[in-house]
Amino acid sequence: MKGPPAWRVLEVHAASADEELVVTALDDAGARGSWTVEPGVVRGYFGSAGEPPEAAFRSAWGALAPGIALPTLSVTEIAAEDWSAAWKAGARAVAVTGRLWVAPPDAEPAGLEWPGGVVVIRIQPGAGFGTGGHATTRALLTWLDAERSDAPVLDVGTGSGVLAIAAVRLGARRAVGLDVDVHALDNAAENRVRNGVQDRVALVAGSVDALRPGARFSRVLANLDAGTFERRLPELVARCAPGGRLGVAGLLAGEREGFLARAAAYGLELEEERSEADLSLGDVWWSGRLRAGAGAGGPGPGRA
Ligand code: SAH
Repeated sequence: MKGPPAWRVLEVHAASADEELVVTALDDAGARGSWTVEPGVVRGYFGSAGEPPEAAFRSAWGALAPGIALPTLSVTEIAAEDWSAAWKAGARAVAVTGRLWVAPPDAEPAGLEWPGGVVVIRIQPGAGFGTGGHATTRALLTWLDAERSDAPVLDVGTGSGVLAIAAVRLGARRAVGLDVDVHALDNAAENRVRNGVQDRVALVAGSVDALRPGARFSRVLANLDAGTFERRLPELVARCAPGGRLGVAGLLAGEREGFLARAAAYGLELEEERSEADLSLGDVWWSGRLRAGAGAGGPGPGRA
């Protein structure tokens, strides 16, 4: 009898500044998933059939980063029976960082946590946007993972609930997810249970004005769009506790300047930013983390 197929693992050693390029090139080369082992070292997981992973990576890299030297590549094989416990073919698990994954409920690896502080967020693909694959979602998840703070989070436009759920799974005492779309909220409610955080994630139908007046948060996340930011920025700022932070995503690189000018007028100061090319869109997503001024939130009954 023919043995079970092996997985081919392509390990890529690059400058850590090129890590995001490596992940994109692995994706373009047909990897089913990738894992950042340490800064600059990324492993891509390929099925047993098809073009050799090095060749596929080389052409993807050539197309993506023509001026940048090809990283060092090495391939190892893993027998399916060893690996199936850690990954099932076709599962759309996404490694957001080396320590944070977003995966469908039934996808291997099983469970919600692995050794080494690795957290797996379970998201049932449904009506709510945010299964972890999108650059805008990943930008805000990366922030939450880097901080692993217990500070409460407000997630405006929660979609699948992914950010609110991740915030709590990564240490936040509690999170509130808001959405104007009730179908998204059904999905978020289901996902909240799958992650065992129903007690600490509150879901509210509506927008920022649906919150109790004066409720403020040390961290406010919003993955929206330029038009919504244009209309809602004052309300978002008003929900930041004094000195709290606002993480925004969903803006394109060309919208950055206009947004930042407006943000400065509301006393927000840019702390950190990142950009990620979206190859299918032919554009670049911009995200930023901003600190609210000491007077943010205005007079109100204390911080949330
Ligand atoms: N937070 C998720 C989903 C972002 S998609 C993620 O990061 O992946 C944006 C979501 O915002 C959608 O579910 C949409 O219904 C919701 N939305 C749009 N405008 C809104 C508003 N003004 N108030 C609350 N939710 C809004």
